[in-house]
Parts: sequence; structure tokens; C-alpha cells
Amino acid sequence: MAKVKKLRCVLCGREFDPKSDVFTCPDCGPDGTLDVLYDYDDVRQKFTSEALAKNKERSISRYIELLPLSDPAFFPNLKVGCSPLYESTYWAKKLGVKQVLIKDDGRNPTASFKDRASFIGVAKAKEKGATSIACASTGNAASSLAGCAAVAGLDCYIFVPEKAPVNKVTQLLIYGAKVFLVKGTYEDAFKLAVKAIDAYGWYNRNSAINPYLVEGKKTCGLELAEELSFDLPEKVFVSVGDGCIISSFYKAFYDLKQIGLISHIPQLIGVQAEGACPIYKAFKEGKDVIERKPTNTLADSIAVGEPRNWAKALRAVRNSGGDMVAVSDDEILEAMRLLARTSGVFGEPAGVTGFAGLLKYAQTGKLDSHERVAVIVTGNGLKDSESAKKAAGSPFLVEPTLEAVNRVLGSMI
Ligand SMILES: *Cc1c(COP(=O)(O)O)cnc(C)c1O
Ligand SMILES: [Zn+2]
Repeated sequence: MAKVKKLRCVLCGREFDPKSDVFTCPDCGPDGTLDVLYDYDDVRQKFTSEALAKNKERSISRYIELLPLSDPAFFPNLKVGCSPLYESTYWAKKLGVKQVLIKDDGRNPTASFKDRASFIGVAKAKEKGATSIACASTGNAASSLAGCAAVAGLDCYIFVPEKAPVNKVTQLLIYGAKVFLVKGTYEDAFKLAVKAIDAYGWYNRNSAINPYLVEGKKTCGLELAEELSFDLPEKVFVSVGDGCIISSFYKAFYDLKQIGLISHIPQLIGVQAEGACPIYKAFKEGKDVIERKPTNTLADSIAVGEPRNWAKALRAVRNSGGDMVAVSDDEILEAMRLLARTSGVFGEPAGVTGFAGLLKYAQTGKLDSHERVAVIVTGNGLKDSESAKKAAGSPFLVEPTLEAVNRVLGSMI
């Protein structure tokens, strides 16, 4: 941990010793989430393009110089990260921009972006000598934690809202987690998890509170930069629920700027579902207040009515000169179909929300023809087959005869 210099409150700037166990700023309360800041002079010597070119590790531990752990022995033995980056000439042409890049983070070991955070969460728990770890989640944070904890031999306790998709709950159970299906919303599950974590002393993997988890998520931004030889696109489109993922992109680019590998931070475009868009609203109204409301969207992974990381998320969008978009459930389903049918990437609803945002943004005429854009697909479509079915349409039920096939094909003309 020598390289982590300090923790700093996103709201008031108060600094804390990384050796202290503080998760959020005592002066600002739970909204005062902390930034993990490194000894950048030291990191600059070690985190270089040359060193990365020689680095054979094909998981996020290749970025250990910019992660809050010193000993790779604590990392779970799972290949998290190094997800594929595709260039879509189809969408570049269609949207009239120079380049469209699609990063498929559904290709992580448990099929979502959240593995990046759980990987670090589990490693931090091991470093502290914890034997149990817990979180509340709409699904993916939990399934990734369950997977990483299973490999690391930690007991895992999960609180999910009752409405969580069946596939996601099944995934938790198969990894051997102890699952509490909470009768209520994500907020209810979150609050109960916090109480249980306090009562039982489990290690807390809740992303918005634990400052180290954004550091794991940040590796997607580091990968994007490395894959593009540190020549980043103008805009990055990301779906937003609690606001940790978008904050993590800002942090990745902030760190790279501190060590001189990039000269400016790309515009971050945060995309929320219309039925759960408090951060979008605060941004559009120029406010620093979050209106807490029940949610209504099929994109369960971003159905967050009380986002915990709004302060970092708003800072990410504002400081990068970015923007926010809100999309309807129909636009999300349409994006699921279009993305799969043009790029082969099958995302869950929240997974393709960034892409839905790109399509909507393009219609407003705010994209320039010289621009390069990247879209992050945050979760795999098989996570939520109910929603996928809504997007996909139905197959043809036929008698086992060629005639029946002919009839169907004939009716298509
Ligand atoms: C968690 C999640 C998000 C949103 O991330 P936040 O950090 O909550 O903003 C987006 N997509 C998927 C698939 C997720 O699991
Ligand atoms: Zn503070």
C-alpha cells in the first residue's frame, strides 16, 4: 500500500491516511466518498508504455502499479479484464463519425464489468485477513463477488432485492454464496446489508462506499487507453446507476494524466434509463442534490433510485466536459437488438444502455464527423433472458416438414 498516498473526500477535500479504515468522510456522511490518490511521481517511473509492452499478465493485475495493493498474492485466481475492444465501421458510417469502438465487458469471468471491482474487493479483504465478505446488489456486483470469493476461499453473504432476475440469483447460488432475497427495493437490500455487515463484521464490498473498488473498475479505462496506445477517443459512453463505473473512467483518465501518459481527459457521457435517472436530472438542472424516487425500468442493473456515488459521477461528467442522456426502455431494447445484430455483442439491458445513449445522442446532431467514440458494454445478455426475450422476438413453430418451412419462408416475402 506504500504507493497509495492518501484518501481524499470528494465533497470537502479532507484527506485521510490510507492506513485508517475510513470508507466515507465523517464530516460529509455517506455522500462524502473518497478518492484513492497515489504517489504519482513514483508511479510515473514504473507505469510506462515500455513496461506495459513487456508485461505478460493478461488480467487487470497487469496494472498493479496503479492499484491499491502491493502484493499480487492476494488477487483471486481469475482472469478478470482484458475484455475485447471492437471497431465498428458499420456504426461509424451510420452515425457519421470517424470511429466507433465497442468494449465488451460482458466477457468477464462472471459476465459483467463488476468483476473488476470484486477482484479488488476480494484482494483487499484477503489483505486485511478477513474470512467473509458481503454486499448488496441488484445482481452483477453480487454474482461477481460470489465468483471471486469462491476462488479466494472467502465466505460470501449477499443481499439482493426480491425482483432481481432469476438468472442472476441462480448464478450467486451456484458459486456457493449465502443469498438473502430481500422483500423490498434495492435501497432496502442495501440498508439491510449495511446493518448486517456492521453486526457481523464482514468485509464490505459495496462499491459506492468502499473507496478501493472504483480502483478496480478503473482498469477498464486503463485498458481502453493502453489498447489505443494512449490516444483516446473524444467521447466515452457509459451506463450509470450508482455512478461508480463512470467515476472509475474519470479516475483512470485522471491517473493517466497525472503520470503524463495522456494530456486530456475524454468527455464522459453518462447514460441513464428514464425510469431511474436522478443523476441525469441533477446534471441537467445544474444541481448538487439528488431527488430520491422509486425506479421504473427493465434495466435492473441501473435501476437505482438513491445513487450512492452521485458526487463522483457528477464530477466525472462535469470535469470532463461531458454530458448525460436518458433513454427509454424501448430504446434500450432496440439497442440490444441493434448491437447484437451488427456487432455480435449481446448485452443485458443495462449493458447496452451506453450504446442506446450513443444512438440517441447522435440524433441530436451533437457528434462531429471527425470524432471518435467508445461505448462500454457492461454486462452480458444471458444475465437476463426475460428482457432479452422481449427484445428478440419469437421463433417459428413448424411441423417437421419442408413444406412447413416453405410456408414460413413464403410468408416472409
Ligand atoms: C452495475 C452496472 C452498471 C452501472 O454501474 P454503476 O456503477 O452502478 O453506475 C451498468 N451496467 C451493468 C451491467 C451493471 O451491472
Ligand atoms: Zn468530506
